[in-house]
Amino acid sequence: MNISRKQRNLLLYSEIIKEYKWLHKLLLKNETLKLEDVPQEFITDFTYVVPVILKQCGEEWKGDENVVNPVEDLGANRKKCRLCGTPTRYLCYIQNKINGKRINIGRDCAEDFVDLNSLVDGKTKGQLIANAKEVRRFSEINKRFPGLEQTIEAWLHRTEKYDIVLPRKMEEPYNESGEVLRDLYRNYLKGIESEQVIEEIEARISSEKSTIEMFEKYQETNRNTPFIATRKMIHWLKNRADQKTENILRENGKVTFETVSYIWEKEYVDKHISIVKELFLAVGANFLGIDHEIGGYTFQYGRSRVTLYISFKSFFELFGNYVLGEGDRSPAALTINNIIKISQIVNDHNMKIQYLDELKFCLREYGNDIDYEDEDLDSNTIYIWDNEVSKFAKCKLSEIIRLTKGIVMGLPKPTINNIESFVASLAGKRFSREELRDIRDVLSSI
Ligand SMILES: [Zn+2]
Repeated sequence: MNISRKQRNLLLYSEIIKEYKWLHKLLLKNETLKLEDVPQEFITDFTYVVPVILKQCGEEWKGDENVVNPVEDLGANRKKCRLCGTPTRYLCYIQNKINGKRINIGRDCAEDFVDLNSLVDGKTKGQLIANAKEVRRFSEINKRFPGLEQTIEAWLHRTEKYDIVLPRKMEEPYNESGEVLRDLYRNYLKGIESEQVIEEIEARISSEKSTIEMFEKYQETNRNTPFIATRKMIHWLKNRADQKTENILRENGKVTFETVSYIWEKEYVDKHISIVKELFLAVGANFLGIDHEIGGYTFQYGRSRVTLYISFKSFFELFGNYVLGEGDRSPAALTINNIIKISQIVNDHNMKIQYLDELKFCLREYGNDIDYEDEDLDSNTIYIWDNEVSKFAKCKLSEIIRLTKGIVMGLPKPTINNIESFVASLAGKRFSREELRDIRDVLSSI
């Protein structure tokens, strides 16, 4: 907080200064005022009350068209601007709305220092007098509670700042008390409440300290608590516009069976990796880790060397309750069949080739076959043997992968019968090996 020379001069011409003798005296002795020039006994008032006095002071003054269009051109016979002291040729005037005092200022000060909009559409004399009373009460209450306005402001936002989200029942009474305090304070300033509220304000403020201590202890105690609700989770849910989950999470202060299916925020996922790893190991899968780029867990199974992944979304929606240790509430049993059913192959060309090589090997044991070349993969195409007609049927690669994952992973399903009835259901022309070769020769010669 500083008072500049211009501010000082305007203050000295203003009405509001008369109510603040200590400030008046200081301004008469000093051209500008810095915190270090202020005697100890007025430091609090200087810090908290002076900004309000300055604002009120600015509002006391009005200009008319003369502010914008100077009334007098003094030529060489210049006159000092009453705010900055610079000799000026063109004179402008501003007038105090309360005491009617009129002072001449230079054009620069009229433009820079005085907010022309507030001068033109400013407050009436009656409003200014009411405001001055408010400033007076503001100054009184600040003597008792320095920085009360800032205290209340901080109070109203405190619970939203903690990393560990406070459960509703913990933060609600505190926030409500802050709102009551704010209303008492505002009503006191307006003169609706008398000095009697000061005792209640006092009581509320002194009880705040122990509440904050409790909040801080809660932060410390729960920093490493599994499934505790964090600010990051709240942001993450806000980004997903999932207000329902956010509400329940805030209510409880931790993840429960109601919310576990809807949350897979990064830090939260990282925190529970060991639990998830155990779950994969328990069904015999080889857990590889977290891949935040694809947004899922990667793993391998059986003798296959193909890397599969299961998205966080699918995993938590179906198996989140297992992570919580409440598997019996889960919508699906955590079995290797179910995991593989909802998994996908890592989207990588070499990994697809690895998969198809393994699939070809498995199918040959049943007298079936697939035919593919590199280019086919890019167009999501594959040819699968149709035993009925001893030719190949064209099919989507993604569909084949979805259908045959169990075979490659060595699971009992699907059976070769499942595969063959799928092939039989495919529409379209069948191709002999020679025809496939011809098609590819033609394509590669283009
Ligand atoms: Zn000036």
